Amino acid sequence: MPETKYKKTEDFNEWYNEIVELADLCDKRYPIKGMNVWRPYGWKVMNHIDRLIREQMDATNHQEVSFPLLIPESSFQKEADHIEGFGSEVYWITHAGANKLEERWLLRPTSETAMYPMFSLWIRSHTDLPLKTYQIVNTFRYETKQTRAFIRVREIHFFEAHTCHVDFEDAEQQIREDKEIAGRLLKKLCLPYLFCKRPDWDKFAGAHYTISIDVLMPSFRTLQLGSIHQYRDNFSKPYEISYETETGKHVYCHQTTYGMSERILGALIGIHGDNKGLVIPPEVAPIQVVIIPIIFKGKEGPVMKACEVIEKELADAGLRVHLDAREITPGNKYYDWELKGVPLRIEIGPKDVEKKAVVIVRRDTSEKHSISQKEAKQQVLSQLDTIAATLYANAQKLLDEHVYRLQTAEEVQEKKGIIELPWCGTEDCALEIENLLDGNTLGEPVEDTTTKASACPVCGKPAKTWMRYAKTY
Ligand code: ZN
Repeated sequence: MPETKYKKTEDFNEWYNEIVELADLCDKRYPIKGMNVWRPYGWKVMNHIDRLIREQMDATNHQEVSFPLLIPESSFQKEADHIEGFGSEVYWITHAGANKLEERWLLRPTSETAMYPMFSLWIRSHTDLPLKTYQIVNTFRYETKQTRAFIRVREIHFFEAHTCHVDFEDAEQQIREDKEIAGRLLKKLCLPYLFCKRPDWDKFAGAHYTISIDVLMPSFRTLQLGSIHQYRDNFSKPYEISYETETGKHVYCHQTTYGMSERILGALIGIHGDNKGLVIPPEVAPIQVVIIPIIFKGKEGPVMKACEVIEKELADAGLRVHLDAREITPGNKYYDWELKGVPLRIEIGPKDVEKKAVVIVRRDTSEKHSISQKEAKQQVLSQLDTIAATLYANAQKLLDEHVYRLQTAEEVQEKKGIIELPWCGTEDCALEIENLLDGNTLGEPVEDTTTKASACPVCGKPAKTWMRYAKTY
């Protein structure tokens, strides 16, 4: 089988760019840099990811909404840190036709400032809380760094959940739920991740604290897929989102957000793919099983009949199955579907028809088995589960083998991946380590507080916690 020109382990970034194009995920030739066209296959995968997000959100009583793309400048200006954080990244609309607008509008970089003026109208009483909303929309950020499909773009396919609560503790409970949602979602996508509590100087503009969701790419750089923010009442005060308690007092809400972007797709491509193309986790594969008839002249009838029987049986079982009846060689079909990452392939030729058998081939390992037609459905279902488990285990191995918990900066040497070092809590010491590693601060481990950190490797003072560093996208 032909392989990609660039090899994943040798030149990851070029390999990634090649795969994105060959597999028809997006077209980067649109005449605005960083605003790419979703091609049908890429959009299908993204829609399946969105479906999983909607399932998780609906199951936790979030309501889907859809807010306007445009935000008036006066709404945007209300929270000072937020403006400072996003000011240089927003696109402004100044004219409508030939007329200069009285007030500028901006394209949402995220939707706090679109939603919160409306939340202040919607929330009146404690009985209106919690308010749990989400939307899946496009957002816009003026990126000046080099763009990369799904990883660094200027028009971003974005999921954002926004919630309002009676108090801090109820908002904290929401953050616990968000972490569980992220866990369930990323498990289905076979993506192990780390939660990192961002340092104060690097948290979301306006947040009380921020937890980032990071994965490790095979280039040993981390990719932030999303984040969860505790806002406390930082936004509800300027946006006047308050409610009346049972005793008639007026109290400001506490708020959270949880957002993830199309970077999830970037992570799927990078972590699971290989030199033959994509390997898409079964949960989000637009086609889970492709059936390829091996036709010989004069024997077309029985082979096609057997293929159609299996196709119907698998479709009836709720699987996304495709019978590839194109008049090209089986080899060309294998190539196409391997490139597109279809998890399982079924081949049926005249000999298989005679034996009442089919050949089943895994995309991730190329393992090939002949099984009886009778057990095909059961085998397909169990193989899809095995593929998902294998993809997850491989990604977990990559992550586990590249998180280094060290005591001193000297131990870092040539280690590639995520470095954890004791941290005293000051910005200066973390920045010094960033410089030394030529990397970025990810944040403190959120879950793991088992082993105590000793002394800060920079200033020697007792460490308060661990700090993670990595090269990042
Ligand atoms: Zn220090």
